[in-house]
Amino acid sequence: MTGRNQPLGVSSTLLCRCNECMRANKHHIMFTDRSDGVYREGFFEFDEFFVVICGGCETRSFIKKSIRRRPDGNDSGEEVLSFDMFPPRVLRKIPNWLEKLPNEVCKIYEEINRAHQCGFFRLCTMGARSLIERVMIDKVGDNGSFKKNLDAMVNNKHISESQKEFLDSMIEMGHAVMHRGYSPDENAASTLLDLSDAIVFITYVAKERGDALKLSTPPRN
Ligand SMILES: [Zn+2]
Repeated sequence: MTGRNQPLGVSSTLLCRCNECMRANKHHIMFTDRSDGVYREGFFEFDEFFVVICGGCETRSFIKKSIRRRPDGNDSGEEVLSFDMFPPRVLRKIPNWLEKLPNEVCKIYEEINRAHQCGFFRLCTMGARSLIERVMIDKVGDNGSFKKNLDAMVNNKHISESQKEFLDSMIEMGHAVMHRGYSPDENAASTLLDLSDAIVFITYVAKERGDALKLSTPPRN
C-alpha cells in the first residue's frame, strides 16, 4: 500500500449493481485506496479499493478493481482486468426452507449456489446432478444407476412422470458439460438450479407445508 488511502465526500460515486436491493445504483464512495502497482509487458498494473454505500438501500460493500494502464498515464488506454465486490454478487436468493433438508443435501445445495454465485456455471451444473443423485439415494436407496433411481422415485410417488422428464433434461445437461465440452451461461445454469430447487422442494418440503395448510383451512360445512 502507498498510504494514499483517503476518506472521500459523498459527491464521489460509482455505478454498480447492489447485492442487497439487486439494482444498478449509484454507490457513494466512502473510502478509497490503491496498490503500488507493477510494470508488466509494457503496461502498468495496479488495484483500486473502495468502501461504498448503495444510494438506494444504504448497504455497505467493498470493491476491488484491477486495472491495466499505458505507462504514459493515458486514461483512454485503461483496461479494467477484474471488478470484485464483497459480499459477492448474489444471483439467486437462498430459499427459506433450506433448514428442512438433510445435512448432506443441504451442504451440496449450498456449494452449488456458491459455485453459481462465483460464475462457475459448469461446476454448478455438475453439482446439480450430484444433488439430485443424493436426494434420490436418500429417498429410495441406491438402485445401481441414475435411471433406476429415477424410476424408483416415480414408483414410490416422490416425483411424477412429468417431473421425471425435466430431471432427464437436467441429467443430459450435466452429461454434456462432462463429456461434450458444453459451457452453460448464467441463464442456463439459473434455469437448471430453478428446476433442481423444485425437485428438492417437492421431495422434502411440499408435503409438510401442504399438511399445515390443510390443518389451517376451515372445513366445509
Ligand atoms: Zn442497494
